[in-house]
Amino acid sequence: MYLSNYLKIKSKLPSNVKILAVSKGFKSQEIKTIQNIGQNDFGESKFQEAFEKQLILKDLQQITWHFIGRIQSNKIRKIVQNFKYIHSVDSLEKLQKISHVSYLEKKNPLIMLQVKLSDDPNKGGFNPELLKLKWGEIQELKNITLTGLMTINPKGLSSKENSKLFKKCRSLADSLQLPDCSMGMSGDWEEAIDAGSTWLRLGSLIFGDKS
Ligand SMILES: *Cc1c(COP(=O)(O)O)cnc(C)c1O
Repeated sequence: MYLSNYLKIKSKLPSNVKILAVSKGFKSQEIKTIQNIGQNDFGESKFQEAFEKQLILKDLQQITWHFIGRIQSNKIRKIVQNFKYIHSVDSLEKLQKISHVSYLEKKNPLIMLQVKLSDDPNKGGFNPELLKLKWGEIQELKNITLTGLMTINPKGLSSKENSKLFKKCRSLADSLQLPDCSMGMSGDWEEAIDAGSTWLRLGSLIFGDKS
């Protein structure tokens, strides 16, 4: 664990930027350690792995769980039941299903829509033009609270290229009047802050490399 990295980044953050500690691949004990120094938002990308940790940590009521992984349709009910935030909604179909399930479950998750801003074949997400086109329809969906957009930059970009994509995300969010941008990871968080990120998703920089 790199608690000193965590504390250093935290001390530099503008007041509207939050850290999401990405604990995938790490144990509940490590989550506890960092929760102990004041980190309450944790991100996980696989439902089953996350759920096991949620059970172990259920007495730590301060923790807010964020789902950030690829969403399988057959896991939507469980994700809605167990996560307050969902950052990685990458299609209208899944968003509609989340809305429907949330209604049945009497939930109202906070949602960020993943957008695809580059041609990276490994990354999904809403096409920005399609998102604008469907925005009216999306806003009508019940039992979800749309708070922002999320993006994952391709690996290996220069600092300048990272900034450019993050700024695209910020301006798209602004045009839809969405306050949040979930962007910036261990390798590009500084560019993300400059571009207007509100949620940095930090894994290895805080937890170290997976054993
Ligand atoms: C793993 C992961 C992160 C954290 O990545 P690091 O580079 O380790 O900080 C952030 N976002 C998503 C969607 C992830 O899957």
